[in-house]
Amino acid sequence: PETPSSSGSDTSIRPPMSAEERLMVAVRIRPLKPDETTRALYAVDKKHIILEDTDKFDVTRQKRALDKRYSFDVVFGENSTQEEVYEVTTSRLVKDVLNGYNATVFAYGPTGAGKTHTMVGDPNQPGIMVRALNDLFEAVKDKEDEYSVMQLLQKGNKARTIEPTAMNRTSSRSHALLSVTVRHSVPVDKKDHLRMRVRQGRLFMIDLAGSERANKTKNRGKRLQEGAHINRSLLALGNCINALSGGARYVNYRDSKLTRLLKEALSGNCKTVMIAHVSPSIAQKDESRNTLLYADRANNITNKIERNVLDVSYHVSQYHTVISELKDEITRL
Ligand code: ADP
Ligand code: MG
Repeated sequence: PETPSSSGSDTSIRPPMSAEERLMVAVRIRPLKPDETTRALYAVDKKHIILEDTDKFDVTRQKRALDKRYSFDVVFGENSTQEEVYEVTTSRLVKDVLNGYNATVFAYGPTGAGKTHTMVGDPNQPGIMVRALNDLFEAVKDKEDEYSVMQLLQKGNKARTIEPTAMNRTSSRSHALLSVTVRHSVPVDKKDHLRMRVRQGRLFMIDLAGSERANKTKNRGKRLQEGAHINRSLLALGNCINALSGGARYVNYRDSKLTRLLKEALSGNCKTVMIAHVSPSIAQKDESRNTLLYADRANNITNKIERNVLDVSYHVSQYHTVISELKDEITRL
């Protein structure tokens, strides 16, 4: 086999555009329901949450001694709209993906806290997945490269057939993951169609399984248990987040399919947004505390972001497409 020459090679990576980027952590509080009487949690402002601890009332100081204040990149209060959540967390990622970056947005939290509402929503209040797909299709409409567009349409249409109600039924035990890859290859020079610029970005949108069981297991300090009631991959994700936020040298992504898929989102070349979901009700106080602690840990994770752009000859650009698709196949196994 020929060894690639260092000068004038077919594949020249453009000057790296990399940056350290911290994982963005958002928290969304769903509205109190009619049958829920008391709040234990509320947004103080656009960045802070107070979790009241009524069990630890300090009589002498006439205050709740252990009320805890948490701060995040952004807090969406009970009156936040779907549009606002999309604009602040994901619209920027969609633009990045079109420009050749990888991005992930994932919803975390216990069952009933509002993850599916945020990610999928309903026809009157469409969520992030629907809005992101709309924006992606809107953006590629005016692109010349029809073949790229067709690939996108196929993937998008497949994703659109996901029925929200069918997803909800199994949501507490399974993850819903939507991945869209945008790849365009355009001639570097309009007169020379033999040299192509390939730009590829991928957007992962994930509605995770309910976190309540994972939290309970962690609370008891037990080792990872397999069983119908415990979501193994969510535990693996928690372990990865713990390791990454603590600056561990070794992070085990191989424990589950989810963490293998999310390896890139958590440690690699990917802009990542986590939206943690909590209920304001006092009945869910413990779950809310666990979720806020988990999100707080994720706050410390930093990724190195690079743009995926290659200048290659026309035939290499075709191989590039095939290789990407084969890689996808492998990840799916
Ligand atoms: P999860 O997916 O986390 O289990 P859901 O998204 O199914 O939770 O939300 C549970 C219920 O609360 C649903 O009926 C949903 O419509 C409602 N809900 C959740 N978040 C909101 C919100 N921000 N505004 C209005 N209703 C919400
Ligand atoms: Mg759900």
